[in-house]
Amino acid sequence: MAAPRCLPLAGPQAVHLLASVDTLLFDCDGVIWRGEQAVPGASEVLAALRRAGKRVFFLTNNSTKTRAMYAAKLRRLGLGSAESEVFGTAYCTALYLRKVAQLQGKVYLIGGQALSQELQEAGIAHLGPGPDPVLGGTSDWAAAALDPDVRAVVVGFDEHFSYMKLTKALGYLQDPTCLFLATNTDTRLPLEGGKAIPGTGCLVRAVETAAHRQAEVIGKPSRFLYECLASENNVNPARTVMVGDRLDTDILMGFSCGLKTVLTLTGFSSLEEAKSHESSDCPAKRSMVPDYYVESIADLLPALQA
Ligand SMILES: [Mg+2]
Repeated sequence: MAAPRCLPLAGPQAVHLLASVDTLLFDCDGVIWRGEQAVPGASEVLAALRRAGKRVFFLTNNSTKTRAMYAAKLRRLGLGSAESEVFGTAYCTALYLRKVAQLQGKVYLIGGQALSQELQEAGIAHLGPGPDPVLGGTSDWAAAALDPDVRAVVVGFDEHFSYMKLTKALGYLQDPTCLFLATNTDTRLPLEGGKAIPGTGCLVRAVETAAHRQAEVIGKPSRFLYECLASENNVNPARTVMVGDRLDTDILMGFSCGLKTVLTLTGFSSLEEAKSHESSDCPAKRSMVPDYYVESIADLLPALQA
């Protein structure tokens, strides 16, 4: 019979888990911060982990910040960090294009400034960011000029997403050799007070629907953020734990990379959801069951002070 999962992480079990790992991966929003506020106790936990000689990394699906911007935010919130500890989808998308796809040619980018900056830093020529309103009628839209050097379409969060951009993306993607990447497929960005705005996944689905193609996804639950991290650092998955607030991204990625997983309840997913997956016979649901859960990562502090 399989070992029980979805256990509360406290007392001797927490001490044991922390002793059995040397690397901890944290999602950001809903885990170490919420919007512009650090989760209470997060800074103490991260400091105690570093003092204990643990390596700490941050894996985030949000494409609206560069590596440097994330490092600056971590420092601003007292969570301390070097750029080399951050693996966000803007940085990792650029890395994918340069190292994995070895792209020759330009990118048509549906995305914001941070993505544009990371592509630029990786030496990848691109066009597309900023407003692109529709003009004229349907025949003008279909005749929109396409750059013959574009070899990839990348979709990330873009507050200027428009019908014109969708039309151009379709134009490029009609060539089956044109690469199609998405930073992530999160459906909503939760905001303070229970509000939410549409996430990148909505834009990705629109382009996929128009192009009759599926994007390759960089962000969690895809393994690529972890693979980026592993390509720059010596990581043993058996001695690594992924801490996240979402079952369908953080925990699923941890599971498929062979990591230990901890769900924290300060963010998106609930314990009820995790328990219902645990009692399911469906393998896809069972791969979203965390090994452990905590109310907040602050709960790890006693184990670090033991
Ligand atoms: Mg999160």
